[in-house]
Amino acid sequence: MPTDLTRATASALADALAAGTVSSVEVTQAHLDRIAAVDGQVHSYLHVDTEGAIGQARAVDERRRAGESLGALAGVPIAVKDVMTTTGLPTTCGSKMLEGWVPPYDATVVTKLREAGLPILGKTNMDEFAMGSSTEHSAYGPSRNPWDLERIPGGSGGGSSSVLASFQAPLATGTDTGGSIRQPAAVTATVGTKPTYGGVSRYGLVALASSLDQAGPCGRTVLDTALLHAVMGGHDPMDSTSIEAPVPPVVEAARNADVKGMRIGVVKELGGEGYQPGVRARFDESVVLLEELGAEVVEVSCPNFDYALAAYYLILPSEASSNLAKFDAMRYGLRVLPDGVDDPSAEQVMAATRDAGFGPEVKRRIILGTYALSSGYYDAYYGSAQKVRALIARDFNNAYEKVDVLVSPTAPTTAFRLGDKLEDPMAMYLNDIATIPANLAGVPGMSIPSGLADEDGLPAGIQILAPATKDERLYSVGAALEAALVDRWGGPILDRAPVLGDTAAVKGA
Ligand code: GLN
Repeated sequence: MPTDLTRATASALADALAAGTVSSVEVTQAHLDRIAAVDGQVHSYLHVDTEGAIGQARAVDERRRAGESLGALAGVPIAVKDVMTTTGLPTTCGSKMLEGWVPPYDATVVTKLREAGLPILGKTNMDEFAMGSSTEHSAYGPSRNPWDLERIPGGSGGGSSSVLASFQAPLATGTDTGGSIRQPAAVTATVGTKPTYGGVSRYGLVALASSLDQAGPCGRTVLDTALLHAVMGGHDPMDSTSIEAPVPPVVEAARNADVKGMRIGVVKELGGEGYQPGVRARFDESVVLLEELGAEVVEVSCPNFDYALAAYYLILPSEASSNLAKFDAMRYGLRVLPDGVDDPSAEQVMAATRDAGFGPEVKRRIILGTYALSSGYYDAYYGSAQKVRALIARDFNNAYEKVDVLVSPTAPTTAFRLGDKLEDPMAMYLNDIATIPANLAGVPGMSIPSGLADEDGLPAGIQILAPATKDERLYSVGAALEAALVDRWGGPILDRAPVLGDTAAVKGA
């Protein structure tokens, strides 16, 4: 157990809490102190709930003292992505549209965290309504990558990835519609899982694209991520797409990692042109490590993955334009009156509100989606995209007849510089080229760090994909590979990140 509690894994903290060698108040306070020291540089949090977190920590400590039997992560604090509703805590989804909104209810995931005794440290930054790959679309300014503060921490969940990589929380929640858990994990050397669609409740998430959205766990190790997955997941009657089955045995898989005899498919279409050489090199090494661990590795072709990005950017905007129609200036959220209009009509108020409340990326997607769904174009655009989606699901099914899991680089590049892709939406979208197929097919995926790229010394990620409801396979492969990589690098890759607070290591500080 490190003397600095913020450097400990969630599982080490959980063990120490269970053994009574540390209290939740101490662990939570250590993280609040860390937040006070470094979040001014990283900007992971949109809201920190000092009093609430300490209150929850005290309550768990009391329950433990009273001899109550508590969950595995009881007392371990967590950061929650601002897309999840939290009673009494602001929930902005990174948008001006929801500035100041304090929801009257908790998302099911948040209810589960509270019941399991995880004190909530605060709400993490994100691209507005989860649209983006960098957090630069947050209405409250970007989060920064602890590896290099001039670079992006990924998106949309860059608040949650940077919170972990800067040791401001041992665990965080995310949502992944096209990669927003996995790509941020990849560029910060952290771990993140997008569970099988329906494996974790969507009730109380501000919806982006309902057929793609999936909440999931973010951690610094595969085991920590599994422990959180087990808390977050499971059937929820409040979500009609929730799977009626227990959470897959993810913790057991992470603890008994073994890939011997496992058939692993390298996706041919994810890794060629456009992939940074250092990312590719770390991926190839990881594949060799998996072979050395006893897995059987083959190349698998998923030819329709080439059309995934195009299909996604029709389906996502279509669903988003419909989901965001509720921000009409009437029911809740922002309300802006048009300038110089006496007695404005409802349409005028709506237009002025949306103009002021939505950022450029959100407007872009609403326009795209509304167009794709309009009569006369519906079949040509949305209809065709749905057909491509079916073909991608078929590619996965064919692949899983031959292999148990698929692997690819998580993102084609390491973290890019803030501002680099802001004016070029296509370039930004391309960062999700490898993560999007899983959302279209509803299958689970995970990213773990694969090492540092030679050209820039920045983290790269490897993605593991499994068939629907077989989430435990991600953890078997992830934990086995993680152990081999820790050996190869002489410790966790994140240990090589500059230590924030040590101003010499902070560029521009
Ligand atoms: N970056 C992707 C997008 O902009 C994914 C977003 C997400 O997963 N929420 O749509």
